[in-house]
Amino acid sequence: MRQKIVAGNWKMNKTLEEANILASEITGMVADEVKGDVKIIFCVPFPYLLPIKNQLGNNTRISVGAQNCSEHESGAYTGETSAAMLKSLGVPYVILGHSERRQYFGEDAALLTKKTDIALKHGLTPIFCCGEPLEVRESNGHEALVKKQVEESLFHLDADTIKKIIIAYEPVWAIGTGKTASAQQAQDMHAVIRKHLASKYGQAVADSIAILYGGSVNAANAKELFACPDVDGGLVGGASLKSREFAEVIKGA
Ligand code: PGA
Repeated sequence: MRQKIVAGNWKMNKTLEEANILASEITGMVADEVKGDVKIIFCVPFPYLLPIKNQLGNNTRISVGAQNCSEHESGAYTGETSAAMLKSLGVPYVILGHSERRQYFGEDAALLTKKTDIALKHGLTPIFCCGEPLEVRESNGHEALVKKQVEESLFHLDADTIKKIIIAYEPVWAIGTGKTASAQQAQDMHAVIRKHLASKYGQAVADSIAILYGGSVNAANAKELFACPDVDGGLVGGASLKSREFAEVIKGA
């Protein structure tokens, strides 16, 4: 059985004070209400990684994650944050290849391969995002595109290494739009991704990899989405910024 994971992607939101309040409210709700062994990750803006990590202390259910890292080791790259720096802060997770990074910052497969490799080299767990834009879904090219995204950035890894990756399937048309994929659409794509992993690495490896769904996950739809056999939890944007709603999403896992 794969462990369920619910990761909040806070994107570029909140002041430090607001971030502290949000984290403490969710932590309290989770401790009081959420049973089971759902792994929770707060993917917070870089400046909040250490304060939120310190605030969580030795909470074993909730971890912090970054939303990006540099493809470079170190050096003259003004404004960048390296995987080694994240590791030195004790940050275990990093989102890579989010569609907003692909779209607004020109991140392509070659760059994401480098970022994946450097994150793994420093012992971080990448949450690798893939997903198709609306026009690709409408022209029925979604399966081929998502398989290609996974293949191009991850299939150079060996079997032991790819097991360390978390994959997040996030259809671009569902991100921040309120238009979520149906549970059936999510399950179908997750099964496609898992089958693709199995074709390269074998079923046992494919079965060990967590595949999260992202795109307008909220308190009302989380339970149905997370109940799908190949959906191992979610990567949650808007709903992760509201403590009560996020706690409900976690309860759905
Ligand atoms: P959303 O964002 O939940 O607001 O759609 C998801 C994401 O971008 O990871």
